[in-house]
Amino acid sequence: MKKLTIKLRITLWFSIMMILLYAVIFVFITFVSNSTASRDNQGILANLVDNNVEEIDYDDGALEVDDDFIAFRDGVYCLVYYESGEKYIGNTPIQELDELDEVPFENGNVRSVTVEGESYLIYDRLVVFKHHPDVWVRGIVKEYKGAVTSQTVYQAVLITFPILILLAAVGGYFIAKRSLQPIQKICETADVIGKSGDLSKRIEMEGNTDELHQLAAAFNHMFDRLQANFEAERNFTSDASHELRTPVATILAQCEYAFENAKGEEELYESIGAIQKQGYRMSHIIESLLQFTRIEQKTEMASFENLDLSELVKIICREHREEMVRDISLEEQIEPGIKMKADRDMISRLLFNLLQNAVRYGREGGYIKVSLRDNKAEIILSVADNGIGIAEGEMSKIWNRFYRVDQSRSSSNGLGLGLGLAMVRQIAQIHGGRVRVESEPEKGSVFKVTFPR
Ligand code: ADP
Repeated sequence: MKKLTIKLRITLWFSIMMILLYAVIFVFITFVSNSTASRDNQGILANLVDNNVEEIDYDDGALEVDDDFIAFRDGVYCLVYYESGEKYIGNTPIQELDELDEVPFENGNVRSVTVEGESYLIYDRLVVFKHHPDVWVRGIVKEYKGAVTSQTVYQAVLITFPILILLAAVGGYFIAKRSLQPIQKICETADVIGKSGDLSKRIEMEGNTDELHQLAAAFNHMFDRLQANFEAERNFTSDASHELRTPVATILAQCEYAFENAKGEEELYESIGAIQKQGYRMSHIIESLLQFTRIEQKTEMASFENLDLSELVKIICREHREEMVRDISLEEQIEPGIKMKADRDMISRLLFNLLQNAVRYGREGGYIKVSLRDNKAEIILSVADNGIGIAEGEMSKIWNRFYRVDQSRSSSNGLGLGLGLAMVRQIAQIHGGRVRVESEPEKGSVFKVTFPR
């Protein structure tokens, strides 16, 4: 059984069940039809005999039967015998033989007798007369009526059952085969992906909505996610290598220059200075990458505590104000006592990144406004600046890893790597929140992070 395919197992199972069901129905029908036919026969037999009893009398000492006496009806033969057993009138179903006449009389009892291999039901009634000899009235009917019914049913069943079972088995097999087709396709697709590593392959499906199609759709969805993650990982690695390639190339160029062309200590110091600058840049890149990876990996295991958000935002704003190198004012509008379940390090990183950007892309002499409020449905943290703003077409892209609006400016002057906002979004999502931006070039930007209450 284990070696059979699911299709065959299903087909086999319901074919056997159908055969069993048919067998039970068949036995039941045979039984019911036999007993009904037999009951019917007995009823007709007794009824005719009982009626005929009323039609027998003596007239002037001679036995007579009335005109209403019925000698044959509905397969029942009715006969009258003298008390001695001698026949007065009537015929048995087998006229040539007198076996049926010779069956001993039994008053009021229907019984079955077999003559010449044929079964008959016999019913006798003794008619008692006060002043004349008694008379026997006998009814005889062939017992085969019921048997005929069951025989007809039997034949019908014998012909139709194999056809029906065959139809059910063949139909069932094809339905099972069709229904299980997605599994075949899932296996084939998984096999192709496994062998070729091509994650763009999908399970082809026609418009059906049964469970297996849902399973195939779930697999396709999983492949989509895997492909997206895989591509994101690949891009991340290539972007990270790309970021590191520039400072490494600069360091190598400086070393070559120093070895071949540097004249005197002064030029050597100059080269070492340039190399050190690129070293810092590389260290910054590696630090950012590590931080980003840590945040990404923390998705599952953020250590949430009951955090006083108002307090934390105040502290970070103060630190930022103290370290601010540009002439930009930092205003706060913080509702006190706002608390939420959050990871302190992550929320600090989120606000730090937004403030860092507001300073980087802010206007000299401009402002940054930080606000925190709770509208009972959600907690809203916003960081607004009146800096350079972001063009409409860039707003959806700034959340992507390594995306910078002005690539040349950012990487050459040591500004960000394009990971800051990707981190902000990731952290917001880990806390069940989301982040949006409203911005206008040359007017400024507002970044709003909302956490559900
Ligand atoms: P970066 O490290 O380059 O700042 P981010 O991911 O933090 O990377 O930001 C992506 C891009 O979004 C930046 O290159 C910048 O062009 C733009 N951006 C972010 N914040 C602001 C802001 N407050 N004002 C204007 N542009 C911004």
